[in-house]
Amino acid sequence: MLLKLGEIVLRGRNRWRFYAQLQRNVKRAFRDVGPLELRQRGGVLAVLAPDEHADALLARARDVIGVNVVHPARVLEKTPEAAAAAAIQLLRDRPGRTFAVRARRRDKQWALTSHELAALVGRAVQDELDLDVDLDEPDLEIHLEVDRSEIFAYTEKLPGPGGLPVGTSGRALVLLSGGIDSPVAAFRVMKRGLRCDFVHFSGRPFTGPESIYKAYAQVARLDRFQGGSRLFVVPFGHAQRELATARAGRLQVLAQRRLMVHVAAALAEREDAQALVTGDALGQVSSQTLHNLAVVEEASPLPLLRPLLAWDKSEIVREAESLGTLDVSTLPADDCCTLFASPLAETRADRRKLQRVEGLVELPALVPRLVASAELVRPGSPRRTAETAERV
Ligand code: ATP
Ligand code: MG
Repeated sequence: MLLKLGEIVLRGRNRWRFYAQLQRNVKRAFRDVGPLELRQRGGVLAVLAPDEHADALLARARDVIGVNVVHPARVLEKTPEAAAAAAIQLLRDRPGRTFAVRARRRDKQWALTSHELAALVGRAVQDELDLDVDLDEPDLEIHLEVDRSEIFAYTEKLPGPGGLPVGTSGRALVLLSGGIDSPVAAFRVMKRGLRCDFVHFSGRPFTGPESIYKAYAQVARLDRFQGGSRLFVVPFGHAQRELATARAGRLQVLAQRRLMVHVAAALAEREDAQALVTGDALGQVSSQTLHNLAVVEEASPLPLLRPLLAWDKSEIVREAESLGTLDVSTLPADDCCTLFASPLAETRADRRKLQRVEGLVELPALVPRLVASAELVRPGSPRRTAETAERV
């Protein structure tokens, strides 16, 4: 199979760092299928794997971030005869009257030009199969790519996710609520090369465990894009009650959000993450007015990334659907945010009042306590094997 890389190819001399990371990610995604051979050919990565896993591998390759296009390809001996035989085999019994051979060379020294190869293979196909050449609008197309030590032949082109390989931009901690937005936010920053850890604040012991299950299931679904995902679960109920007791009132949601950010930032520093990520979108709810977003951001010593800031809800929902996280997001669960919240949320939080509330709950002690209470789970690995079993 051939993986065509997108944006990485535009990189300058440090392109090789991106290729190396992509290769590590491919090996990780295919770890359980036995030995693979990888051949980097410029902006194309050839993956040679045992045939019996072809379909499962194809599906997984299409989830490797950094890959724009996947071709299920055959690897051929570097001769025109091998190319002709493969073309005949690949086009035989396919519905259609006309065909075209598209040839190109990455090895410019080879005996035949692309044009000569295409003509030669075209004739062989015509002789063998009852098909006519049509270069403009063929029913069938076969692609031949002449490379360093082989020819690749394929007829199909499947889209991958694109983006930059996970890990090339560093590491981030995503605040994952169990709702619709935050899993989409995570995917968007993964596509910009960030490896993601996740933190979920649950209303425990004042809510049930449902929101934790949702966060767990969402991370399990996102894991196919990076592998080895980690989710930290912080029981947040008592801290929320403390804020309520400190009479946060209409500032309850903002005070909680700032506390989450304090805790997430401390956790991120402990775990070597360089940024926080949330699913905030400007103006979506009252805690997301520009003023309130700024107030929340002030609680973070790390950059707080909001990849969905300018997205419409409908755009987010559409993406959640295509990622496969939407159905989990819409399952019922008590939202820890509304637990102690006043029905009248503040759209323009007063910083002095917030400081008074935060003074009463003694943040310098509370934050490390919450960080220490975070429980680590790894939603990725078990599902990966189950999924493999299903797909193979
Ligand atoms: P989402 O669908 O992600 O919950 P939302 O539209 O419901 O988004 P809010 O509930 O206001 O928005 O939350 C804004 C962001 O704050 C979330 O996207 C998430 O990053 C973070 N967040 C909110 N609640 C939690 C939580 N319980 N645990 C972790 N992060 C949270
Ligand atoms: Mg939410």
